Amino acid sequence: MFKKILIANRGEIACRVAATARRMAIRTVAVYSDADAHANHVRACDESVHLGGSAPKDSYLRWEKILEAAKATGAEAVHPGYGFLSENEDFARACAEAGLVFIGPPPSAIQAMGLKAESKRLMEKAGVPLVPGYHGSEQGGELLQREADRIGYPVLIKASAGGGGKGMRVVERAADFAAALASCQREAINSFGDDAVLIEKYVQRPRHIEIQVFGDTQGHCVYLFERDCSVQRRHQKVLEEAPAPGMTEAMRKQMGEAAVAAARAVNYVGAGTVEFIVEQRAGEMNFFFMEMNTRLQVEHPVTEAITGLDLVEWQLRVAAGEPLPLAQDQLHIHGHAIEARICAENPDNDFLPATGTLQVYRKPPATAFQRSRVRIDDGVREGGEISPFYDSMIAKLIVHGATREEALARLDLALAQVHIVGVATNVQFLRGVLRTDSFAHANLDTALIERERAVLFDREPLGLPLAAAAAVTRVLRAERSSKTADPFSGRDGWRAWGDYQRPFDFEFHGASQPALLTYRRDGSLWLKVGDTEGPLRTGRFDNGQLEFEFAGQRRTVDVYESGDTAYVFAPEGATRIATIDRLAHAGETQAEGGRLTAPMPGKVVSFAVQAGDKVTRGQPLAVIEAMKMEHTIAAPADGTVEELLYAPGDQVAEGAELLRIATAAATAAA
Ligand code: ADP
Ligand code: ADP
Ligand code: MG
Repeated sequence: MFKKILIANRGEIACRVAATARRMAIRTVAVYSDADAHANHVRACDESVHLGGSAPKDSYLRWEKILEAAKATGAEAVHPGYGFLSENEDFARACAEAGLVFIGPPPSAIQAMGLKAESKRLMEKAGVPLVPGYHGSEQGGELLQREADRIGYPVLIKASAGGGGKGMRVVERAADFAAALASCQREAINSFGDDAVLIEKYVQRPRHIEIQVFGDTQGHCVYLFERDCSVQRRHQKVLEEAPAPGMTEAMRKQMGEAAVAAARAVNYVGAGTVEFIVEQRAGEMNFFFMEMNTRLQVEHPVTEAITGLDLVEWQLRVAAGEPLPLAQDQLHIHGHAIEARICAENPDNDFLPATGTLQVYRKPPATAFQRSRVRIDDGVREGGEISPFYDSMIAKLIVHGATREEALARLDLALAQVHIVGVATNVQFLRGVLRTDSFAHANLDTALIERERAVLFDREPLGLPLAAAAAVTRVLRAERSSKTADPFSGRDGWRAWGDYQRPFDFEFHGASQPALLTYRRDGSLWLKVGDTEGPLRTGRFDNGQLEFEFAGQRRTVDVYESGDTAYVFAPEGATRIATIDRLAHAGETQAEGGRLTAPMPGKVVSFAVQAGDKVTRGQPLAVIEAMKMEHTIAAPADGTVEELLYAPGDQVAEGAELLRIATAAATAAA
């Protein structure tokens, strides 16, 4: 076995490979870009080498630099992960020439499967079923149009060199073909530097089912069963599971053997995935070869979960020349596994990738009980950045259960425990998908998200009453804790005025939402928000967990704040709510003429300024305590303090003028 390997990748997959290497007592070398200088994958490895700038072409794609790093550190083999150089046959060849083992298939296999059209010609010869289509090398526009007409619409035009869901166009009618072809070719040349296309029959409501295969240098080849990756957006996978719901033993064997035949046709060695598109028609499932990915796949953990194997260990063993650890008849499926890809993206805005700082990043607890059941593969930590340079995937959450139902419930629970603030994510969207009838009943196909659009994008989020009650409780807790430090806290003079009403303004889902909190003479609280009202009892706020009881419902939620926005996470969902501070605004408007008045009856706690001080807009001037809370009165504009009208400890009536300032504007006007 190798003593040291270099991991030519970043993020979760680099961390994932490093974990297995460590377990096998293999030393690891990380490589990194400027943006990744402090990334988790660098910490996960024993040594690291800087490659260059943040853009992939300046770092993770610079293979001469990577080979130099391997030489310099004495690594014997290179693990390419997925993406970047993993399917680059020139890199695989260069590794061999440099005396390094490329942990992947031989360059010839990568090349043979690299172009979709050529691989289809090969598969045709190997007797692997293909989607009816055209995958010839002649690319004349007229010929392609004739072929599309022959195949029959709808057809799918694909960039032969394409990947990652890019470079595909569905064409519904002959009249639209030419324009779609031109646009597909443009994207293909821009993204892949090659405008060759192929045309396929567009399968209606298909399923994407892929087979994990493994080959070794002794000529063994096995399949590690299937993964269903039908739940996609923009032709990219979102949820993956194994085994595929509804898969029969007979079909599993057929597909597995077809995948092994595909791998054998190119003398495959190592981990690979044969992707099939499955047509569901009249209770029958027909599968057709789509492409082969000659690397470890993002969704490999679901296969690991159901087989109990470590695929990276297998990769390392095979690369070191060992035979496959198990034969086909020693492989078995246990239970059901589902993976969810947590991405920095905005589902409400066509899944546009998002960037930002992970202000909060909390994961489900890895208790001993859950360890084997909930797995998180990630390469980030709280405080880290999701930069625009790389993939938008933040983490993968993988769950295992005895049955699909159990796995699904476990995944929903685990997703509820993923708390992310600072970057928009698809976590709530994923939970929505899990709850659709289609997913729950395993009515899977690639159009699932589109079909459930109405439910998914018009989902009932966490309601306003709960969000508002949490926000109010949080404000009250903050005030109470700041008050304990206040020497005047013992004297609650405000009670002399009896019931007091305190208005709140919230911004929730883009709309302004008023709420009214009543402090009753008996010390209890009453909250009215929208059509809901009832007693509010505030409980503990501890380590981000907030307890309260509102309108008869006792709740514990997690709340994180960023500015005036509270991010509320509850078992049924998460939302955010912004508090617009009326008191501050009341102070502002009443201060137009340079006067600052008490917004409600209370007690002056302190002045932060004295007469003659120059102040700038927003600067805190005074703190008054009213209704069991402290409130800061801020300067509405730049100016100079003329006079303080009260002293700390004084009781003031509502509307009482606290201090006078001469604002710059007022001075200029005078
Ligand atoms: P990529 O290299 O981008 O992964 P694939 O050929 O694997 O491209 O196709 C990606 C996805 O596009 C598939 O998972 C499937 O959802 C859809 N797709 C591909 N071919 C067809 C087809 N012939 N009919 C319908 N959908 C297809
Ligand atoms: P709304 O329903 O009020 O429009 P959303 O929750 O849909 O709000 O989010 C709107 C925008 O807020 C998104 O475009 C995203 O950029 C940002 N956003 C959403 N969730 C978060 C979060 N957890 N942390 C930081 N920004 C977020
Ligand atoms: Mg694919």
